[in-house]
Amino acid sequence: GPKSRVTVVGSGNWGSVAAKLIASNTLKLPSFHDEVRMWVFEEVLPSGEKLTDVINRTNENVKYLPGIKLGKNVVADPELDNAVKDANMLVFVTPHQFMEGICKRLVGKIKEGAEAISLIKGMEVKMEGPCMISSLISDLLGINCCVLMGANIANEIAVEKFSEATVGYREKRETAEKWVQLFSTPYFMVSAVEDVEGVELCGTLKNVVAIAAGFVDGLEMGNNTKAAIMRIGLREMKAFSKLLFPSVKDSTFFESCGVADLITTCLGGRNRKVAEAFAKNGGQRSFDDLEAEMLQGQKLQGVSTAKEVYEVLRHRGWLELFPLFATVHEISTGHLPPSAIVEYSEHKPVFS
Ligand code: NAD
Ligand code: 13P
Repeated sequence: GPKSRVTVVGSGNWGSVAAKLIASNTLKLPSFHDEVRMWVFEEVLPSGEKLTDVINRTNENVKYLPGIKLGKNVVADPELDNAVKDANMLVFVTPHQFMEGICKRLVGKIKEGAEAISLIKGMEVKMEGPCMISSLISDLLGINCCVLMGANIANEIAVEKFSEATVGYREKRETAEKWVQLFSTPYFMVSAVEDVEGVELCGTLKNVVAIAAGFVDGLEMGNNTKAAIMRIGLREMKAFSKLLFPSVKDSTFFESCGVADLITTCLGGRNRKVAEAFAKNGGQRSFDDLEAEMLQGQKLQGVSTAKEVYEVLRHRGWLELFPLFATVHEISTGHLPPSAIVEYSEHKPVFS
């Protein structure tokens, strides 16, 4: 059949690594065009140059992934419409808060029959209830959307250290296989499970637990306390996912997207790091402030996800069932001190 064209929508830390992974494969796989388009949210660097121009000149995303060659077949494009117009396969990987706006701009602009995958960890909360990012994409654009989540700290994959990932799909096994093929390398082992919601909720909710783990680190409470918080967090992840989507499978929590991502994020992620600083400052400096200072343009997902989860819990009368999730939000908004993370989360919820 005709060769598939791939576009990556997003070019942050993980977006850039995803483009590198994909670009190494499109060169080798005959069913794909070599070129990988990468949409860049344009910005002007301190040098006065545009980020897109620098990426295309140096083959590096000097701001979000410095020191890593993306592959000569990666072409940065600041025009969203142009970046997607010929793509049969769309990879979405931006911070989740920007996706609704991006999807609205893409309505009517994408190719007939295109397939999508979301690498985005987050959700939106609407009047009707929570909406996962993959649903936002499939609902607004009228296309099928898989997800790829896992224990994947981007900077480690960038230097080709081994990791695993999970593709979640709905019904279309052949499409999932195509995504697995596009992402797999000897250092990036991908497997597929038929559970989009389970995979995506794992990736989304572990960021809230990572904030809690960061608080524990900032308070210097030690490894046992942190492990307890991770365990309680994992239990809430499973309970929340199953309440929202009864189809979510227990086995999904044992895939890379589940317990493995929870562990790596609570050990080495950005959410953990900034939450640690927040607790060390006794909650006196806001997350926005710390994020801007510590991450230089990269974005946290856990704080806004805690807010989104909190809204769902409040609307459905589930707050008492999820003390850890609720407490993360109350601490990050300054309503409780960081020390509340242990005091409040340790009470065993009614639901378990
Ligand atoms: P990032 O944290 O590096 O975010 C910065 C990106 O956001 C930049 O490309 C920037 O241009 C863009 N941006 C800023 N303002 C914007 C706007 N108004 N509209 C559109 N884009 C804007 O991004 P990332 O690390 O690639 O993360 C993307 C998603 O991937 C997130 O959901 C994250 O949880 C997930 N993820 C990240 C990692 C990681 O290690 N970085 C690993 C796995 C999953
Ligand atoms: P952070 O956004 O906390 O760095 O987590 C990255 C991640 O999702 C690893 O899989």
